[in-house]
This record gives sequence, structure tokens and C-alpha cells, in this order.
Amino acid sequence: MKVAILGSGDAFGSGGRFNTCLYVEAAGEQMLLDCGGSSMVALNNAGIARNQLSTLLFTHFHGDHFGGLPAFLLEAQFVSRRTQPLTIAGPRGVEQRALQAIETDFPGASNNAWRFPITYVEVTPDAAATLAGIAVEAFPMVHDQRAGPCQGYRLVHDGKIFAFSGDSAWTDALIPLSAGADALLIECYTWDQVLANHLDYGTLRAHRADLGAKRIVLTHMSPQMLAHAEELPEEHAYDGMVLSL
Ligand SMILES: [Zn+2]
Ligand SMILES: [Zn+2]
Repeated sequence: MKVAILGSGDAFGSGGRFNTCLYVEAAGEQMLLDCGGSSMVALNNAGIARNQLSTLLFTHFHGDHFGGLPAFLLEAQFVSRRTQPLTIAGPRGVEQRALQAIETDFPGASNNAWRFPITYVEVTPDAAATLAGIAVEAFPMVHDQRAGPCQGYRLVHDGKIFAFSGDSAWTDALIPLSAGADALLIECYTWDQVLANHLDYGTLRAHRADLGAKRIVLTHMSPQMLAHAEELPEEHAYDGMVLSL
């Protein structure tokens, strides 16, 4: 399994980083895990051919994770002229959220006669799924229920495990999410400011022993967190970082 971090930024593009967008490749299939508002630029920068992506999987419905969907679909319709089926997967309510987002960004477009079949798949902690040939388990995260349910995912393929927190404050669900993972990509938004909806570095350090991943990579960093990133023992993500599992 290959995971390319196309967007490692927070919601505001701190440090010049793109919004969250992960490219995942396994067994000849390709998907995106989150597709934040700046993701079309990130995909173009990385030279990713959109029509080969079979699936978009979302952690939650904030713009920096979900906001790239409308432009992705319109580009597929009018530029890439996609004919391949597309699966749009995410937490409960993903279809309604998608239609709302399309209609907001491009009024009238939610009624498009799409050139390609779209299948919506709800992935919940009670309903694991196989997406793009990868077994996907969802874990409930603690972030902002107005943009949720918010979920982290554990992707399993060929004996390798990639875990991603999405956005979340500390929750004990991060323990089973990360257990035995070959890599855990975990948000670490703030340095010393404790928030109810994001993780800070001090809290992460306090729970470090609970995270059973072989490799821990921090992402979604605020300007203050970015200023400290180089001095930390953990790896931190950057746009273009590739995790080969
Ligand atoms: Zn975010
Ligand atoms: Zn968020």
C-alpha cells in the first residue's frame, strides 16, 4: 500500500500547505482519502490522473476535508470526461452532504446527468467496507458533530495497516485505531493550546504510549505547531510525503 500525502495542511493553508488530501494506492486501485478545498490544485501538482481514482473516502464534512468534491465532480464531467464509475464514501449522510456541497459551489449542478455512475457508500463504526480493494474500518472521532459524524479510518491491505485520525481531539478510540498499524497519520493541530475539537502536542505526548503504531506522523498543523515541528521526535507530514507500507 502506498499513501502519498498531497495535502498536509490545516483548514487555512498554514505554511503554504494544501488542505487534507491523501492518495492511496493498493493492488492496482487508487483512491483519495479526504479531498479538501484546495485538492484540485494538489492533484494537478502531483500529476494524478483523476479518472484512475475509483473512490473518494471522507473523514467528515468540513471544507478542508470535503470541499474539493464539487470541483472534482465537475472536472470529471467536463474536462476529464470520466466514464469510469466513482464511489463516494464517508460517514452517515454522505450523499445528502455531497449534493448540498455541489449545489452550493455550482448552483444547479446537483441535478447534472453525470457521464459516470456514482455510488454512495456509508462507512460507519458498525459497518466496515471494502473500498478500492482495501478493507476500511471506521472509528468515531471527537471533533465537530455539525460536520460529522467525524471518523478516523484504518485501512488494511495485504497485511499492512494505515491509520488516519482525520480531525479529532484525544479520544480512546485512537487506541484501537492505531493498534499495530504500520503507520498512523494523526492530526496535531496545536502546540500548547488545549482545544475541545483538535489534538495538541502535549496531549499527544501524554498518550504516546497508548498509540500502538510502528510509525507516527503528525499532520494538520497550525502555524505555532509548524514552528516546533523540526525539534520533535515524531515525524511530521509535508505535501508530497510518501508512506510506502
Ligand atoms: Zn481539518
Ligand atoms: Zn474538521
